[in-house]
Amino acid sequence: MPAEQVDAVIVGAGVVGLAIARALALGGRETIVLESESTIGTGTSSRNSEVIHAGIYYPPGSLKAKLCVAGRRALYPFLAERGIAHRRCGKLIVATDPGQIQGLEKLHAQAQANGVGDLRMLAAREARALEPQLACVAALESPSTGIVDSHAFMLGLRGEAEDHGVAIAFRSPLLAGHIRQGGIELEVGGAEPMCLLAQTVVNCAGLFAQDVARSIEGFPAERIPPTHYCKGSYFGLSGRSPFSRLVYPAPEAAGLGVHLTLDLAGQARFGPDVEWIERIDYDVDPRRAEVFYKAIRSYWPDLKDGALRPAYSGIRPKMRPRGEPACDFLIQGPADHGVARLVNLFGIESPGLTASLAIGDAVRDLLGD
Ligand SMILES: Cc1cc2nc3c(=O)[nH]c(=O)nc-3n(C[C@H](O)[C@H](O)[C@H](O)COP(=O)(O)OP(=O)(O)OC[C@H]3O[C@@H](n4cnc5c(N)ncnc54)[C@H](O)[C@@H]3O)c2cc1C
Repeated sequence: MPAEQVDAVIVGAGVVGLAIARALALGGRETIVLESESTIGTGTSSRNSEVIHAGIYYPPGSLKAKLCVAGRRALYPFLAERGIAHRRCGKLIVATDPGQIQGLEKLHAQAQANGVGDLRMLAAREARALEPQLACVAALESPSTGIVDSHAFMLGLRGEAEDHGVAIAFRSPLLAGHIRQGGIELEVGGAEPMCLLAQTVVNCAGLFAQDVARSIEGFPAERIPPTHYCKGSYFGLSGRSPFSRLVYPAPEAAGLGVHLTLDLAGQARFGPDVEWIERIDYDVDPRRAEVFYKAIRSYWPDLKDGALRPAYSGIRPKMRPRGEPACDFLIQGPADHGVARLVNLFGIESPGLTASLAIGDAVRDLLGD
């Protein structure tokens, strides 16, 4: 089959792929997005907390810190200007015993180093004045944290990308790539298989980004990081939410702790927990509720038995196994792997939704567009 020449191909129509497609198209590139599923955002992008993170948790100078803060600053106006549902509801990170207060102070200092200057340490009574049902000994308030309708956001990105000429090919999995003189030749499967010669390829296949890199013949195998899956399950709360802000416990090793988030209708859900798994499986085991009740009652003692119901789960694309410190985002360009005009995105876990607009700009800049 003769290869059709295209300027840029993005692999994956999650929030990151859509944001990159938009950024490249706004810069005038003819862009095609390949998506193996039948619509946008069916992967991690629709299986998360939908929180607009302020930029508190990440080591200063890391990509996560820089892109979260830049992404959040770009995201609020993007959503407001386009009428996309979101709310800057704020959040409280709570210490439930005095031993955790130092951890909150550290987070406060780290946030300042990341350019998040609006956090406030609250005494227990100040926190309870904001959220009367909260049990804590101190709290850190983050006013710029919010929530977003992630699907509406992705539709906004898609609309703008398509208005600037982006074509999205659904049910079109990338099967293999071959590095050629004038670009990368891509074999695309699905009902209408095709062969494309792309000058630029951006791999944002989320949980499958390593598989995509591996499928490109001649790509240096030692540049492909390991894949580890870390599942997070959510439980919904029957009845009214007890809180009007998001409530997070002090963070734990692989996640941010079983926190309370709200959807835009005001319904509360708790999660995600941390479960290292070998293969992708989104079922939520109702027995995990037991751990949730215990964790949630540390900051909301009034949680009634039977109030939680299994909701959904998402899977964090980790590059290090259980017990090892979290990795930064890995945005790998030609200088890192030696293949011209190929960018791989690995380990785009939280705060990838918040950071997506900034990731789009970073990839465009990396490509020198
Ligand atoms: C439990 C959990 C909670 C989170 N909470 C938050 C939060 O509150 N706030 C926040 O900012 N971030 C959060 N995140 C992170 C955020 O959800 C992700 O960073 C983001 O959704 C990643 O988007 P993506 O486009 O990289 O991946 P995905 O959304 O997974 O998209 C990848 C796409 O690639 C496609 N694909 C795969 N292989 C191929 C192929 N061979 N050919 C074609 N297409 C292919 C897939 O079908 C998929 O559509 C959370 C993540 C998890 C797991």
